[in-house]
Amino acid sequence: MSFSTEVKNELVNLPILSECCRHALAYGLLLFGRSFSNASVSFAAENRTVLGLYASCISEITGTKPEYTDRSGKMAIVSVKSVMERREILEAFGHSAGELSLRINRANLADECCFASFIRGAFLSCGTVSSPEKNYHLEFVVPFLKLSNDLFALLQELGFSPKHILRKSCHVIYFKDSENIEDLLTRMGATKSTLKLIGVKIDKDMRNHVNRRVNFETANIDRSVQAGSLQLEAIRKIDKARGLDTLPKGLKEIACMRMEHPEASLFELEELFEGRLSRSGINHRLKRLVQIAEEI
Ligand SMILES: [Zn+2]
Repeated sequence: MSFSTEVKNELVNLPILSECCRHALAYGLLLFGRSFSNASVSFAAENRTVLGLYASCISEITGTKPEYTDRSGKMAIVSVKSVMERREILEAFGHSAGELSLRINRANLADECCFASFIRGAFLSCGTVSSPEKNYHLEFVVPFLKLSNDLFALLQELGFSPKHILRKSCHVIYFKDSENIEDLLTRMGATKSTLKLIGVKIDKDMRNHVNRRVNFETANIDRSVQAGSLQLEAIRKIDKARGLDTLPKGLKEIACMRMEHPEASLFELEELFEGRLSRSGINHRLKRLVQIAEEI
């Protein structure tokens, strides 16, 4: 099951709200459905639980069950066939038959509490959210400019910072940051999904941190092994050309130590010298050996 479906199932199954919020939820669901006009009131979705909620919202207004059309097995459409009933529905939300462009009628959002329910309805209709394992993305897809502007403004009023793009002549209002998405899911009432998202985020952050740490250490080891083999090559060259005995005592000592421990890091060499030589002292002498070899 996709994360989007999980979120929607959670939202549909939330307990019955107060009268005002139930009205606002139905309004969000219907207004952002497939169509909401005198000519057509319909809703299309794969998710049967969301379709069921839509149908029951319609029944509550008209007293009759709307029609179901199953399409290609997956997608189903719920629509209101009677003109009378469509008018009844529009009127229930203060809309009229002759409206030129669809807008949010704020009269349906009686109280502060209703805003969250309305957004919940809108999300159930035209929203999706990506699995947090992949990326952080939540969006509402609205076919009408003015309606999308109204939703955009409403989200801003609620303290969110949405973004907007045009995609295939549809207006997409979206969020890309996990904080806004967490807040929005919580606001709509999807607390279980929010917790899941936060959990995934913590896991991801932790994994990234560990990976960075491992990469850093691997790079360090690579560097010291590379330096070690370069030094070893230099020491062999000196030995072959003129023998290690020609080296000053301090340099000969470190050349022998390096030959015995070709892959030891500076830190490990320092320990082998049991404090007689500092790391920078060892490093300096090893560099000197490489220099001498280059001069040969
Ligand atoms: Zn309310």
